[in-house]
Amino acid sequence: MKFSELELSEDVLRAVTEAGYSEPTPVQEQAIPYVFMGRDVLACAQTGTGKTASFTLPMIDILAAGRAKARMPRSIILEPTRELAAQVAENFDTYGKYHKLTKALLIGGVSMDDQIKVLDRGVDVLIATPGRLLDLFGRGRLLLNDVKILVIDETDRMLDMGFIPDVERIVSLTPKIRQTLFFSATMPPEIRRLGEAFLMNPKEIHVSPPATTAVNVIQGVITIRHNDGPRPGGGQKEKRHALRQLISHENVKNALVFCNRKRDVGVLHRSLNRHGFNAAQLHGDMVQSVRMETLAAFKRGEMKFLVCSDVAARGLDIQDMSHVFNFDVPTSPEDYVHRIGRTGRAGRTGRAYTLALPEDAKYIQAIARLIGKEIPRITLDGDSAPESRGKAESESESESESESESGKKGEEEREHAPARRRRRRSGGRGRKAAGDTKADAGRGPRPNEKPGEAKPEAGPTDGGRRRQKPAESADKPVVGMGDHVPAFMQRPVKPPTER
Ligand code: AMP
Repeated sequence: MKFSELELSEDVLRAVTEAGYSEPTPVQEQAIPYVFMGRDVLACAQTGTGKTASFTLPMIDILAAGRAKARMPRSIILEPTRELAAQVAENFDTYGKYHKLTKALLIGGVSMDDQIKVLDRGVDVLIATPGRLLDLFGRGRLLLNDVKILVIDETDRMLDMGFIPDVERIVSLTPKIRQTLFFSATMPPEIRRLGEAFLMNPKEIHVSPPATTAVNVIQGVITIRHNDGPRPGGGQKEKRHALRQLISHENVKNALVFCNRKRDVGVLHRSLNRHGFNAAQLHGDMVQSVRMETLAAFKRGEMKFLVCSDVAARGLDIQDMSHVFNFDVPTSPEDYVHRIGRTGRAGRTGRAYTLALPEDAKYIQAIARLIGKEIPRITLDGDSAPESRGKAESESESESESESESGKKGEEEREHAPARRRRRRSGGRGRKAAGDTKADAGRGPRPNEKPGEAKPEAGPTDGGRRRQKPAESADKPVVGMGDHVPAFMQRPVKPPTER
């Protein structure tokens, strides 16, 4: 199919051609006609599929007719993170460059005064994170009575981050007669129920089965053994050592390195730089302007490694990323899919390696269940062979201190703090922390292994150096909203309707 068959205006088509797109992606092909029809859409699509253009392109043409009134936006796009909101705003500028539409980007961490000024002039599209939007609404700077199109993007992430009550409130403030476009990377029953509550007779679109990983991402999991015993934060030193060995054997162009906890982002970032790797960090506690600058510098290729947390990196569209390293195994299997989806984009091959501690076995197994296959196990031999366990590296004093502090406190300092705070308020519980089981012996990278040579541990090959790992525990981590169960989720699910 061609873009010209999608009834987009000449101006949008010109902008799309200049963006270098030759044909619509499947989600664009399927969604755009229904958006033009005014239908609600429930789309199961991950980032990287071109889903942003699937709603922004027709929205630009729809909004071209009509004018915005002061403080009364005509459309809203809700995003779970500031970075995603900023990215959507950039897309809007790219595709809408031949239109005179006005937009406001309402995200936390930047001046509210400037946002208020833009709102006062009247905006066609409001791209916002839920918290800042409600904040400005509460201050009387915004009315939602004129909203004709509402986009709820990355809904599964909104759920995971505890934003659903805010989203429900925003929906309740918009007119009942509106067009709602609802996107989620995964479509578990609770997301579907949410769709039932927000949408009217939606057109359902699935562009890839939920929670599949891209075929062109080569995956591997490396089990790191340690002697720290059953305490949170154990094995960090060994993991840092293994990571350095792994990346020095890989042909890394640029890589995201994911940590589960913000404080570990800082520790690992300092450690990598101390060892001569060019790294930056990105997490939700950083000032917004610094987050934006860091991301821009990383996109420009000014540093090779970006150590980050989930919330900072979710959905980021960074072209040509060669590697993703999971310094920690994500406790939510969906996060694994999102993390590794940062590489292997646009048909390129990417590599995604996960460092796991023996006590992470249940999370690895939950991931395997979700993606429908085992992640190949790879081993790295070298100077932290089993016999050198416990002295895997001589870290500098400060690094060890940071690590022991992290281990001592053992807090679950994840990026999902907003969700946790809400759960605490409602007496809910957070995600189950990593289990602590017995420590195991550590092994380092095989010295002669070249980039991409880390091989699946398919059995006792290679002179018997690779070994099959024992079966993992089947425990499943708790994900989602803890004890908070909004009313809409308790309603039965209706089968999808087609028109
Ligand atoms: P998204 O899934 O919206 O995050 O988009 C992922 C990437 O695909 C972005 O870099 C877009 O610029 C790009 N993209 C979107 N639509 C197309 C298209 N039709 N052809 C090629 N690239 C596209």
